[in-house]
Amino acid sequence: MARIVMKFGGTSMAGIERIRLVARQVKREWQAGHQVAVVVSAMSGETDRLVNFCREASPLYDAREYDVVVASGEQVTTGLLAIALQAIGVPARSWLGWQLPIRTSEAHAAARIIDIDTAAMDESLARGEVAVIPGFQGQGADGRITTLGRGGSDTSAVAVAAAMKADRCDIYTDVDGVYTTDPRIVPRARKIPRITYEEMLELASVGAKVLQTRSVGLAMKERVRVQVLSSFGDPDLPPTPGTLVVGEDEIGDENVESQLITGIAYDRNEAKITLTAVPDRPGAVATIFAPLSEANINVDMIVQNVAHGTGSTDVTFTVPGAELARSIDVLEKAQATIGYAALVPNTEVCKISVVGVGMRSHAGVAATMFEALAARGINILAITTSEIKVSVLIHEDYTELAVRVLHTAYGLDAEDAA
Ligand code: ADP
Ligand code: ASP
Ligand code: MG
Repeated sequence: MARIVMKFGGTSMAGIERIRLVARQVKREWQAGHQVAVVVSAMSGETDRLVNFCREASPLYDAREYDVVVASGEQVTTGLLAIALQAIGVPARSWLGWQLPIRTSEAHAAARIIDIDTAAMDESLARGEVAVIPGFQGQGADGRITTLGRGGSDTSAVAVAAAMKADRCDIYTDVDGVYTTDPRIVPRARKIPRITYEEMLELASVGAKVLQTRSVGLAMKERVRVQVLSSFGDPDLPPTPGTLVVGEDEIGDENVESQLITGIAYDRNEAKITLTAVPDRPGAVATIFAPLSEANINVDMIVQNVAHGTGSTDVTFTVPGAELARSIDVLEKAQATIGYAALVPNTEVCKISVVGVGMRSHAGVAATMFEALAARGINILAITTSEIKVSVLIHEDYTELAVRVLHTAYGLDAEDAA
């Protein structure tokens, strides 16, 4: 007997027919004698619909009430899955975020899980009942409903797995594993059988939305064995193995060294801001980024040009697209202090990143990237690097082309599709 968490995403929960298939997948594991907790997302498209209602009601909505609205999508699928399980003879009950409870911070719309009390659920699991838990939601210290940020059901699943000391956390989704890049834009992408927490964390943080970044960070910290696999196989048969997210020790040296690049990701949700003619003096850059940081706006890429005797320089950086309006507001208020001439925003950008632990021991990764993009005439607007990642900002029209070109340049294309 194992204790397992099964998480099903939006596409897997989209409609009663799909939910019935999910119920059969859950029954398969339950019948094998496992204790099963299931974490579910809202039906695909539902959270977007609910977010839009809030925006329509008032562009400056109260985040606490936004959470009340958007958390409802998961409540519906939780109840429906419990009903579908009962209908096929599996004893099941729902445990809403406030019922377990899943305690979170009070950062509404972006709450962090603090702890999960699984005592009552454990008793229910021991009685052979399946627990169905809505992803994405929790309860703040003020007693009010919170949500964890978009894609947060992955984090709910990993947190539940850690709290109940589950043997594994299976993330069922609409692809059958983590690929070298998004298989929807590169058909030649290859499935990765095992990936390290570190690489998955980096890939997720630069846009590979197959797992929410925070879920990977939590899995790494709590050593939860995460597997990404398809929810679209025959529900009555054991699933095809997907991708295991594991520690570097489980991958083996050979793999880590020989594989230069593990994956490529893209992120269209960045916006670029250029401040022109910023005075070239010590402390000038601090006057830009201090007010942004006070406003909790994360700046990602930064490029500062060299001043050629003009006494001023342009500074370019990126912020999350959703924060562009707030960033402009903050920077316009600080214009006199910063002393820039003009603020030029641009949302037509995309960040492309290549990730791989092999970069630690190999030179030339960035050069290959720049050459491959240059050969296709793709202009680079900004660059950042970390120990295992190189990212470039380009015009969004070139997103697919850039990802495909880089996928080939790093030798990642699947052989049979070449
Ligand atoms: P769910 O609703 O199950 O949470 P998501 O839509 O959040 O599913 O994540 C799955 C999607 O992630 C896939 O449909 C795929 O388009 C996308 N994706 C992006 N990068 C990758 C990658 N490297 N490997 C697999 N899928 C990826
Ligand atoms: N339903 C939420 C979203 O769409 C959470 C999730 O599915 O992970 O962001
Ligand atoms: Mg998701």
